[in-house]
Amino acid sequence: MKPAAFGYFAPRDLPEALSLVSTYSSDGKVIAGGQSLVPLMNFRLARPSHLIDINGIGSLSGIDAADGRVTIGATTRQRDAGTHPDVKVQLPLLAEAISYIGHLAIQNRGTVGGSIAHADPAAELPVVALALDAQMHVQRTDGQRTIPAAEFSLGYLTTVLEADELLTATSFGVPPAGSGWCFSEVARRHGDFALVAVAVLLTLDAAGKVGSASIALGGVGPVPMRAGAAERLLVGEAPTDPVLRAAADTVGADVEPEDDIHASADYRRHLAGVLVRRALTTARARAAVAGNEHV
Ligand SMILES: Cc1cc2nc3c(=O)[nH]c(=O)nc-3n(C[C@H](O)[C@H](O)[C@H](O)COP(=O)(O)OP(=O)(O)OC[C@H]3O[C@@H](n4cnc5c(N)ncnc54)[C@H](O)[C@@H]3O)c2cc1C
Repeated sequence: MKPAAFGYFAPRDLPEALSLVSTYSSDGKVIAGGQSLVPLMNFRLARPSHLIDINGIGSLSGIDAADGRVTIGATTRQRDAGTHPDVKVQLPLLAEAISYIGHLAIQNRGTVGGSIAHADPAAELPVVALALDAQMHVQRTDGQRTIPAAEFSLGYLTTVLEADELLTATSFGVPPAGSGWCFSEVARRHGDFALVAVAVLLTLDAAGKVGSASIALGGVGPVPMRAGAAERLLVGEAPTDPVLRAAADTVGADVEPEDDIHASADYRRHLAGVLVRRALTTARARAAVAGNEHV
């Protein structure tokens, strides 16, 4: 299939891009890596009148680590983010998640911002953004705003981004030293979108008890979700096997999966609990190692 005819702009700087995004807000589309948009256009599920290609804008690409945050420019390739030393050392949860995205060819072209703006509920990056309380930086011709990850997704492929806004960067808070992490998912075949994806961050205090817990899931509803009941059950407890299991057992009641051609809602609910228990177990082991390294 070929896409319907469209006009094409390649702005060289951010003001020009914002102006084009504003002018064509009703029927134009930003294109970044094109790994989601182009298939939609080829199937004629999207028919933008114009594409605004943001790949030539240098200021939208790159990784900056400062003041306890790692900020990733919107057009940074997923593979570049996942292999960047600052990300591997300071945000290993993010690096681990990116390794699950599609195939290397997809990661080499797909962008961090494109995945977050596209908001597929089974995509890895929005799940990690939620687990790490990321902030999305957004600009339009007449201003800018910062949106917490928890408020960014509204529904399937739908976010709070207005048609005249551009996502310019995503900023992730670096977890405290001594944190353990795990990203895990189940997909039907290697490279497929996840049936269920889980991101876990666990911090142990000096007494070895859980100081903070963050558990986010994808593929279990129209937007990524936090497993609040499980998180509350863990905090203040020693992370023994029965405690981790009890926390994971609450997850099924917290999620809202639907039946689709890939899996039933019941199967996804079951998977969510199993994956959270396994991810908590891995995160606990990594937190113990990280804690010893920081004594
Ligand atoms: C075979 C295949 C397998 C894949 N498997 C996975 C997978 O397992 N997990 C996964 O997460 N993804 C997967 N993907 C999708 C891939 O990660 C995409 O790269 C990603 O979803 C979109 O990023 P992009 O840069 O390609 O965005 P594009 O396709 O260029 O854009 C996607 C959407 O976001 C909008 N957009 C892009 N950038 C911005 C911005 N800065 N501001 C505002 N709006 C913007 C576009 O207008 C468009 O609506 C797969 C894709 C393919 C083709």
